[in-house]
Amino acid sequence: MKLYNTLTKQIEEFVPNEEGKVKMYTCGPTVYHFAHIGNLRTYIMEDALDRFLRYSGYDVTRVMNITDVGHLTSDADTGEDKMLKGAKREHKTVMEIAEFYKQAFFADCAKLNIRTPDVIEPATACIDSFIAVIESLIEKGYAYLAGGNVYFDTSKVRDYYALTGHNADDLKIGVRDDVSEDENKRNKSDFVLWFTKSKFDSQELKWDSPWGVGYPGWHIECSCISMKHCGERLDIHCGGVDNIFPHHTNEIAQSEAYLGHKWCNYWVHVQHLNDERGKMSKSSGEFLTLALLESKGVNPLAYRLFCLQSHYRKPLVFSWETLANAEAAYNKLIKRITNLKTEGEVDAAALAAYREKFIEAVGFDMNTAQGITALYDVLKDKSLSDATKRAVIADYENVLALGLLAGKKEEPKKEEAAEIAVPEEDKWIVELIAERKAAKKAKDFARADAIRAELLEKGVTIVDTREGTKYTKN
Ligand code: AMP
Ligand code: ZN
Repeated sequence: MKLYNTLTKQIEEFVPNEEGKVKMYTCGPTVYHFAHIGNLRTYIMEDALDRFLRYSGYDVTRVMNITDVGHLTSDADTGEDKMLKGAKREHKTVMEIAEFYKQAFFADCAKLNIRTPDVIEPATACIDSFIAVIESLIEKGYAYLAGGNVYFDTSKVRDYYALTGHNADDLKIGVRDDVSEDENKRNKSDFVLWFTKSKFDSQELKWDSPWGVGYPGWHIECSCISMKHCGERLDIHCGGVDNIFPHHTNEIAQSEAYLGHKWCNYWVHVQHLNDERGKMSKSSGEFLTLALLESKGVNPLAYRLFCLQSHYRKPLVFSWETLANAEAAYNKLIKRITNLKTEGEVDAAALAAYREKFIEAVGFDMNTAQGITALYDVLKDKSLSDATKRAVIADYENVLALGLLAGKKEEPKKEEAAEIAVPEEDKWIVELIAERKAAKKAKDFARADAIRAELLEKGVTIVDTREGTKYTKN
């Protein structure tokens, strides 16, 4: 397959270090809040890559960290710890927050058919290995102690800016200037490996270290967790484009300084999901979650289709209208596929030819949109039997994972039958629920929300389930 490599800025033939095996590392979530649908775009596209590599016959080891310590509100190492901020917001402990949002994250992933990575490792479980690597970096002259913290000396590495393709001056524009410069740093781009001092509130979680009681910086976790599970040579490292600098740039600097050789060959970055205000981010107050999409009646897999329809290296603009288009396309696809007969012979030659077509499309820098075009071609192909179409779709589903064959024939009578059975005094509730359903169908979410609020005010709580909307009287 071919992949665009951020490191070389070219589309290259993908060749793993070891024949038939792929070691892949993907930066995981910072679990201080729900993932927003922008984060989930990145995870969907990484999942498609993971699945495509497996589909192509590779034995993939995919590792993901969980950032539960060290990620500060400013990527320039000078802000407050995000986890502590989350814990204060919710009057809980950092570990309670971490556990809650980790579970919420994987619940979202499950709804989006994102495969669970082979290894999931929280940063707090690897403190000893961080300390060992930092000690070695100090010994080798790549790190120094200043003002109680340990810093990585970026002037010691040869091509620190290789991944970004920018120089130090260009990047100053991107660095937030609402935080004061850390005077302990020898060079502006130096970063913290271990904190014992911060001007912010004391950390809840701290560990003993040769440099005093403290906690690790954010970048060291991904280098160490990757090396722990993937060894000294990594094939693919993924993340969103905002990770290129400083996070991945710093990962390369410290990993290669520690190892003494090249660490990762291919760097794959997913472009952002933007809304009308720009990049979607958790710190911007209100943000869109998968739960919010679901509360508006959107099937998570329609969001997966929305993402797969665009190329991962192009920014994707979110609007309710474009999402509604993807949802309509999704429902139509399900309907067409559900109507395919299951009986009949599968044409093996046609299956192989369509498989080839899909590999060619998606194998060119993960062109999932072309893969979906191939899917439509299958449905349109009059020379194929229904059974062959189903077989090709099942094959494509290994990568697309859109739940296309899970659709059942609609049973519209069921809900109506349930409605007839409601007691007389609840008829008004059922009527309002029906009105809300119609409002949602017409995308009149304001009316739908107003009905929910009205019911709640009158002591009725409603929950949307697969079998329709259920209500309980308080
Ligand atoms: P975080 O939980 O903030 O550490 O981010 C998790 C992942 O989501 C990282 O790989 C980020 O690069 C990525 N990410 C953050 N914001 C966006 C966005 N608006 N669109 C796509 N990916 C994003
Ligand atoms: Zn990372």
